[in-house]
Amino acid sequence: LIVFDQVVKRFGDLTVLDHLDFSVAPGERVTLIGPSGSGKTTILRLLMTLEKVTEGTILVGGEPFSHMRRGDRLVPASESYLRARRKTIGMVFQQFNLFPNMTVRKNLTEAPVHVLGLGKEEANARAEELLDLVGLSDKIDAHPTQLSGGQQQRVAIARALAMRPEILLLDEVTSALDPELVAGVLDVLRTVAETTDITMLCVTHEMGFARDVSNRVLMFDQGRIAEAGAPEEIFGDPKEERTKAFLRSVL
Ligand code: ATP
Repeated sequence: LIVFDQVVKRFGDLTVLDHLDFSVAPGERVTLIGPSGSGKTTILRLLMTLEKVTEGTILVGGEPFSHMRRGDRLVPASESYLRARRKTIGMVFQQFNLFPNMTVRKNLTEAPVHVLGLGKEEANARAEELLDLVGLSDKIDAHPTQLSGGQQQRVAIARALAMRPEILLLDEVTSALDPELVAGVLDVLRTVAETTDITMLCVTHEMGFARDVSNRVLMFDQGRIAEAGAPEEIFGDPKEERTKAFLRSVL
């Protein structure tokens, strides 16, 4: 579903991703771990088209992402092409980014109605279903400021899912939360993983979550994959010294 082919990303002289190759199959749940600055968030930002690749190609669903096809050639993607491609991807950030002046219901129905063109009733029904999934049915008429950080993050997850994305990107979604609120958000993500076949790509510092929820863990170091494998392998029997050192520092 997602292919990174020799992707290079530089910011000035700094090479953040260094000829990176990896792919993610439909329904896979992949976590990206590794030291700060190793390029994990940049991968999600490239997929959200918030950044452009310096070299190489990204394909999503077999179609180029940073470029578009014109005849046999690839040309830089236009804004409307990017907008259409972005619709297939949902993202939840560290900061919840809910629309503060809208109720929870409106937060969940706004984009489905205006971007996907769903009818109000259908969008409402979907919002109710998703709030049930994240355990917040009773908050449908609340405003974000009336919710705890953990509740806001659960609404943000529901809002991303309301767009029926094929891919859900999660960027350190618990790191801005008070410790006692983390478990509720991770539980919701476990439920999403168990009850949907959505493809998930998560940057996380929660090794327990990486172990429980993902099928595959990619350990990054300096813009490359140092080691990749099933969570049991990476956490139970890491091969690379860099992985061992990283896990010692976080566990
Ligand atoms: P963390 O775990 O701390 O979030 P990360 O592995 O996600 O780290 P990235 O956020 O991908 O790392 O950043 C990789 C490197 O790229 C960092 O050194 C960062 O300072 C740099 N970087 C990211 N965005 C930009 C930018 N817009 N301009 C310049 N440098 C940037």
